[in-house]
Amino acid sequence: MVTELLMPQRLYSKSAAVNVRRNFIEDTVMRSCRKIFLFLILQGLATVASGQQISVNALRHWIAPDHSRLVFDLSQAPVHSVYSLDNPARLVVDFANASLKGQLSQPVSNHPLYSRVRSGVHKKSDLRIVIDLKKNAAYKAFTLAPSKGQGHRLVVDLYPNPVTQKPLAATTIARNEKPQTVAPVSKRSAPQKATKTIRTQKRDVIIAVDAGHGGEDPGARGPHGAQEKRVTFAIASKLAQLINSKPGMKAVMVRRGDYYIDLRKRMKIARDAKADLFVSIHADAFRSDDVKGASVFTLSSRGATSEASRWLANHENASDLVGGVSLDDKDDVLASVLLDLSQTATQEASINVAGKVLRQLKNIGHLHQHSVQKAGFMVLKSPDVPSILVETAFISNPEEERKLTSSRHQTEMARAIFNGIDSYFSQYLPAETRIAGDTDQKHIISRGETLSGIAQQYGVSMSKIKSANSMDNNQVRIGQVLAIPTDS
Ligand SMILES: [Zn+2]
Repeated sequence: MVTELLMPQRLYSKSAAVNVRRNFIEDTVMRSCRKIFLFLILQGLATVASGQQISVNALRHWIAPDHSRLVFDLSQAPVHSVYSLDNPARLVVDFANASLKGQLSQPVSNHPLYSRVRSGVHKKSDLRIVIDLKKNAAYKAFTLAPSKGQGHRLVVDLYPNPVTQKPLAATTIARNEKPQTVAPVSKRSAPQKATKTIRTQKRDVIIAVDAGHGGEDPGARGPHGAQEKRVTFAIASKLAQLINSKPGMKAVMVRRGDYYIDLRKRMKIARDAKADLFVSIHADAFRSDDVKGASVFTLSSRGATSEASRWLANHENASDLVGGVSLDDKDDVLASVLLDLSQTATQEASINVAGKVLRQLKNIGHLHQHSVQKAGFMVLKSPDVPSILVETAFISNPEEERKLTSSRHQTEMARAIFNGIDSYFSQYLPAETRIAGDTDQKHIISRGETLSGIAQQYGVSMSKIKSANSMDNNQVRIGQVLAIPTDS
């Protein structure tokens, strides 16, 4: 089911990747002279052959930390070429047999990469757009087919430095983070070794907070026009604030503004930040506007729990078709192999934290689903980072749309999600982190150990250990750190 869903996306990515590679080679070989990158689209050729003129209806600008995006809204698939010129630096976009409808919107004055966008008629019937660059930039260009209410588009992504094979996300994160004292032994690489030593250098628990959609992809829309991408960003920001206000916990915002990040890159940002948990925030939508309430999802590798989950996964996974294709997913196959090998432990943790968040959400409002749901969400596919997706409410329900846009309700929602996460980490603290009560003696669970055995070893009652660690059952797992209270 999941594979089926992803097929069109993969095919699309491949064709874009070819274009990018061509572009990259040309950049490398002909860096100092003109770089011409021309690709013809068959439908576009047909359009020109039939004599239909393309209309360039609008231009939109998005600024991400590592790149800037221009999106041209078009009446049809274009025949176009994109190339850069030096002295002064500029990027040229030529549309064959095209005209401009209205005026081109201009970038903000402090735009990091370009100052102005001009247009003119070229060769009588072509439209030439010139983007005046503030400095030399590398570019990628690709077309997007109509999706989710958006028409044909040409997307031009500009990068401040020539594109390298090194992903840009990692450096973005590193720059924005305080230096971390990450213990060399992580729970994921070698949990058994960690049982021997308790490290004095402790790191924070890191939570990647992902505001769904963004930029070119607005997500779902409410009946009064609220956009999912804005609501998710507001709740995610409040959640990040709560996380950062707790000593020993640290939030990493996956998306820091109104721009698009493809689904694989979202996971990568979380993984590069060494996140202990990935939380993706969304708002649901349904055809019928009386459906309401929150749901919490974890990844299903087999199939969705319900028809609704299936529908929703399809809907959320379509983001990449709306916002842009993934350009760096060559290791798809490797990723899916890793997924199968190591998903089980991550899944257990995901289900556990999802249950705790769901319980908290129940306290503040209506639940759509009373148990943790499973669906094949692309964004939850990290094999090594426990991941949950919270559909906070139905933006398609007028009452919930109103709540979702209220700052007070957003805060309540963020607080509920935070409480769920907090209660999870008070129970399952990664071995090398430092939230655990610092006065108690610590014990790290090794293979084969049981709670009763540990109680006996330290001469403390099981109930005392359980209450010191906010545990509601007797289960312990390898790598878990228990605070051992002194028995009096
Ligand atoms: Zn969504």
